[in-house]
Amino acid sequence: MSDLIVRDLSVHYGGIRAVRGVNLEARKGQVVAIVGPNGAGKSSTARAIMGLEPATGAVSISGREVLGHPTSMRASLGVGFVPEGRGVFGPLSVRENLLLGGYCIDSKLHTKRLDVICELFPVLGRRFEQHASSLSGGEQQMLAVGRALMSDPAVLICDEPSMGLAPAVSKTLFATLRTIADRGAAVLLGDQNAGRVFAVADEVCVMRLGSIIARGTPRSLGSPDELASHYFGTDSGSSAGLADT
Ligand code: ATP
Repeated sequence: MSDLIVRDLSVHYGGIRAVRGVNLEARKGQVVAIVGPNGAGKSSTARAIMGLEPATGAVSISGREVLGHPTSMRASLGVGFVPEGRGVFGPLSVRENLLLGGYCIDSKLHTKRLDVICELFPVLGRRFEQHASSLSGGEQQMLAVGRALMSDPAVLICDEPSMGLAPAVSKTLFATLRTIADRGAAVLLGDQNAGRVFAVADEVCVMRLGSIIARGTPRSLGSPDELASHYFGTDSGSSAGLADT
């Protein structure tokens, strides 16, 4: 059974239907990605799965229905969430930020989890006692992912991880997200950068105006430019904000 199952998920903001009947699944070892331009509904989908936006439909995590339950219950069932914009606490050290992600696990496990995260992101280990505000944007993104990994989640949801990152940094980060899936997590990724997404995803869901309008393997969807031209009516992926940079 898939670790994350989303059925007929809809999100409304007043009269705006931001997410319209979305269905998706992710299981251990898989990277499932949602790609689409600004305003497509990627963040609203991710936040609704995490319980941060009111939604209708059904969301099951590790076999338990969670819609209507609080975010804390979803976290304790095994979902790690990396919000758009990272949300790291600048005045706190790298170590303190990471420990915040470990609030729902036994503190005896903290050292082991910190070791795993510093192995995945060696730069965090080197800057352990520094304020998070002193990190570069890419390092802060790594810290946000590391914090979500503290609870050893079955499902990792990453919202717009490539945003504002230099190409080389986002390439490394996406490769690490692939490694996290290969080690046994189900990873759901929402991002505009189709090039990055295509390099690591097993399945890509193309989102537009709140709906999934196509899905398949990166190979079956063609190149990022073909995707932009076919689904978003632009000549190139970059003009749609979808191409690799
Ligand atoms: P981006 O890449 O810019 O974050 P996105 O694909 O994540 O875009 P969402 O942020 O989910 O898209 O937005 C989907 C739609 O919902 C957009 O029309 C957006 O303006 C609207 N929206 C998002 N959050 C709110 C909110 N809190 N109140 C009202 N409308 C919202």
